[in-house]
This record gives sequence, structure tokens and C-alpha cells, in this order.
Amino acid sequence: SERVFGGFRKTSERLATNLTGVVGTAKLDDATLDDVEDALIMSDLGPSAAARIRAKLAEKRFGLQISANELKEAVAEEIATILRPVAKPLEITAFPRPQVILVIGVNGSGKTTTIAKLAHLFQEDDYSVMLAAGDTFRAAAIGQLATWADRISVPIVRGPEGGDPASIVFDAVKAATDRGTDALIVDTAGRLQNKRELMDELAKIRRVLGRLNPEAPHDVVLVLDATNGQNALSQIDVFKEVAGVTGLVMTKLDGTARGGVLVAAAEQYGLPIHAIGVGEKIDDLRPFDPDLVARVIA
Ligand code: GDP
Repeated sequence: SERVFGGFRKTSERLATNLTGVVGTAKLDDATLDDVEDALIMSDLGPSAAARIRAKLAEKRFGLQISANELKEAVAEEIATILRPVAKPLEITAFPRPQVILVIGVNGSGKTTTIAKLAHLFQEDDYSVMLAAGDTFRAAAIGQLATWADRISVPIVRGPEGGDPASIVFDAVKAATDRGTDALIVDTAGRLQNKRELMDELAKIRRVLGRLNPEAPHDVVLVLDATNGQNALSQIDVFKEVAGVTGLVMTKLDGTARGGVLVAAAEQYGLPIHAIGVGEKIDDLRPFDPDLVARVIA
């Protein structure tokens, strides 16, 4: 949990700075609530979460004396209330196995690293894992995933650069089924600049998967880079349309002051948040603990 605290340090600093001077000894009035709302928006929590937190504060404390510390605590409690309903670890429940987890997201979001980290978390829970290198568009993507697979000793199904992702996924499901593998994690291309092609590619992967197992893919996990702030949110809209999304992982919360976007995503989309990325190392994917994160941010 130390790393999680380190993880949100800059986000927390930003909110603290934005909230500084909002309250003195004054009673909580409309002007003060305006300042709080502005501070939350400037900390990337988004207009909707900011308005909701403001309304809750007003409802509970309007006209009452509030210290800076009490304000912080009250904000943390409202953030936790927003985050709790979406905190949902990725669980392996599929029967028959494998559970097929499609991982989507724009290039650079941390998709490949997150796949390796997820595989590692499953391994720690004694599940067997296989990877499928479905991002055949970038040669580097295949190599990078293979390097991770080697490092954590999980089998990987890969094809040539430019190969058909759907046929790789087909082979991977067969192999995982034969071996009785618990979780098959599938990397996919992240070319949002070519939405039509990406949509067709993901649709084809889904068709092939559906033929092998009507329940597959069991999960479609969107990886978002918190560094992108509000742009990360528009990626949710696009990927919901292109691929369907069943849950989120937000990465790079260690280096950014924009971690408030996690709260904005929870409030605006209500999608499950499975885990958060707080570093580049294999064990830097953390289960999403809403109370801890709320306390750390505010
Ligand atoms: P992809 O293009 O989406 O597959 O992205 P990669 O997995 O290659 O990640 C892009 C860069 O972000 C790499 O340098 C990763 O080490 C880094 N990265 C991924 N997740 C995190 C994270 O949670 N924190 C930090 N600081 N870096 C991350």
C-alpha cells in the first residue's frame, strides 16, 4: 500500500494545492462551495463528480463551521462513495475454461505491460495463463509481449507481423482449451486513427471467439493512461462503440497529477475498475481499493 500512496502523490498534491485557501474559519456557504467545486474540476475529477461532491457537502454541512481538515475528510468520503460501486477485481470464473480476456486500448497506454502484470497476478493466485499476440500490426508489439511471456514463464501464441489476429486468437483458444488453461489474455491492436479497420478487426476476433465458445470474450478490458486526463475519458466513449468494454484498468497513476480522472471515469461511466497501474515493474498492478485511493487523493 506504500506504493499506492506513492502512486497518487502528485494527484494528491494538486488537489491539496487547489483546495488551499478555500476554507478559513468561514461557515460553508455558496461561495466556498463554488471554490471547492472549482478545485475538484481543476484536479481532473470532472464536472459531474465535482457537482455531485458539492451537492453532498452542501446537504450535510451547509452553514456549518468546517476546518480545512474536515473538508478534506468530507471530500475523501464522497470520492470513496463514487468509487466503491465500481471496484471489482477481474475474477476467473469461466466454465468451461479458458476465460478469454480481450485487452484493448490505444498504443502507448500501457496495454502490453498491463497484460504481463495481469498474467502475473493470476499466476500468484495459482491460475494458469496463456497469452495471445493479437496486435500483429506492430512488429514491436509481438516481440515485446513475447519478452514478457518469457520473463514470467507463460506460453504465448504468436504469428507473423501482419498476420490475421483472428486466426491467432483461434489457435490460442484451441491451445488453451487443450491444456486446460484458466485464463487466456489476448493483446489487440490499438490503432484508433483507423477506427473502421480496428472495428472490423475486433469484430472478426469476436466472431471467431464466439464460434468456439458463445460466452467468449468473457471480459473486454480497456487500458487507459491517466496521464491523458480528460482525453482518457473520450477513449472510453470510442472503445465502447468500437469494441464494447466490460471493465477498465487505469495506468501510470504513479507519475501524474491527473489521477483525479479515475474518479471522473467512475462517476461518468460506472464501468468496473479492475486494477490500477502504479509503475513499470511486473508487480506494479494493484487491486483497486476505493477507500484507500479516496484517502490518498484527498
Ligand atoms: P502499449 O503500447 O499500450 O502496449 O504500452 P506499453 O505496455 O508498451 O507501455 C508504454 C510505456 O508505459 C512503457 O514504457 C511502460 O513501461 C510504461 N508503463 C505502463 N504502465 C505503467 C504504469 O503504471 N506506470 C508507469 N510509470 N509506466 C507505465
